[in-house]
Amino acid sequence: MESTSYVCIECGKYASELYKVYSGGMIKIAHCNHCTKVVDKYVEFDPVIVLLDALLYKPQAYRHILFNTKSNIHWKLSILCLLCDAYTKWAQRSTVNPATDPLDRQFLFFALQWHFYVMFIIAGLELSSFLLGVVVPIILQSRMTGAQDNRGLALLLRSLLLCCMGKLLVIPMVIWSQTDIKTCMWMTRLFVFTSATQALRVTRNSGTLQASGFILLGFAAQHLSTHLSPILEWVLTQSFVS
Ligand SMILES: [Zn+2]
Repeated sequence: MESTSYVCIECGKYASELYKVYSGGMIKIAHCNHCTKVVDKYVEFDPVIVLLDALLYKPQAYRHILFNTKSNIHWKLSILCLLCDAYTKWAQRSTVNPATDPLDRQFLFFALQWHFYVMFIIAGLELSSFLLGVVVPIILQSRMTGAQDNRGLALLLRSLLLCCMGKLLVIPMVIWSQTDIKTCMWMTRLFVFTSATQALRVTRNSGTLQASGFILLGFAAQHLSTHLSPILEWVLTQSFVS
């Protein structure tokens, strides 16, 4: 039986190992049984190079990150992304500058800090809606077509969460004191859309059109959830105030 531990980053077929360790500590990079190329050249590369190639949407880099690395950084990254998303929402509503505004306005600033936590919860709701909007149609499609999906739900969620790192673009915006929040939001959405489409293509071996369709469904679900945000915001704000 063929091992499913790793994937060849060139052809996407399963591979049993990334490298062989011989006696004396000598290591030899493994070659793919299907395409005869090196299974994963990125095992020798610096993580920065891998990240740069991922930013260039190279499918090989996506396969390396999604299949051949066992890191669980996506959970920590998700929290960071939610913080960035919450900051963007909070900054859109906040008109107070604590550095220059008088004390009475600064009191309002501290009230708005509570508002930041409300925005964090709303960002969590929107992220969950996005994930459900992508995952549920994929599961339904798999059941309708009877396609056996060996690459499970956990991998799908992991890839989508990793693609949300586009929201980290808000960090340079804060550092460089950019105030054009809307432009930043559109940039992050565009990055999440393109990278999530590429991740879906890689994890499900699907075409660009189908993958982008699923991601657009996710964005639609996220957009629908924003209609619930004002109600949730009111309820949470009342809870914090009382
Ligand atoms: Zn191969």
